[in-house]
Amino acid sequence: MNLLQVRKMMLFTAQKMIESEPTLTALDQLVGDGDHGIGMKRGFTAIMVLLQDEKFQPTNIGDFFTQIGTKLMISMGGASGAIFGTLFRAGGKSITGVTEFDSDVLSKLLNEGWQAVYQRGKAKPGDKTMVDALAASATTASQLTSSKLIDALPKIAQSAMEGAEKTKQMIAVFGRTKNLGERAIGHMDPGAASMAYILKYMNEYIQT
Ligand code: ADP
Ligand code: MG
Ligand code: MG
Repeated sequence: MNLLQVRKMMLFTAQKMIESEPTLTALDQLVGDGDHGIGMKRGFTAIMVLLQDEKFQPTNIGDFFTQIGTKLMISMGGASGAIFGTLFRAGGKSITGVTEFDSDVLSKLLNEGWQAVYQRGKAKPGDKTMVDALAASATTASQLTSSKLIDALPKIAQSAMEGAEKTKQMIAVFGRTKNLGERAIGHMDPGAASMAYILKYMNEYIQT
């Protein structure tokens, strides 16, 4: 995929994330303060506006994702603004200069993004955060770097969804969900759901 195709994929993803606001809000109402859907909607609306602006002309795919991360960070707020902003900023920086988006590039973005998210928030897999979906997708991506993107992305997105599903069984270590203790069991972490949805929609775009 070239930069223009990546741009179209992320515009589609942004529109779908905006539509997911009620689902994400409902999840955060169960385990948090109910604002996650609103935050994601605000962030991806800002991205939609950016991607529809002809003056936005990043020079390469790394620069593209870095700027998306910056946009999320400044527009979203909350824990997830810093976390998802960091994912795309650090992920984008790790692929600076790249002009072709393939499985290897996606693996770098997810794995470097995961490391940066860990540095920022210290959440490990099993702590009931978006890291459970991110780590699962990054691990699968690193096993599929020589596959075609169209074959790898469904599996990467599937792993993220499985990682998000697993958060239902977890007790939280961070944020408001921590205060719920065992009452959080049975509920998916909203940030993990968002992470899984982002990859799901990227995949939906490239399969059509
Ligand atoms: P807030 O908690 O400030 O209301 P949101 O509701 O938008 O922010 O986002 C909550 C999500 O942020 C959680 O579901 C979780 O996935 C993610 N999150 C919170 N803290 C961390 C952390 N330290 N590391 C990674 N992700 C985190
Ligand atoms: Mg919240
Ligand atoms: Mg909040």
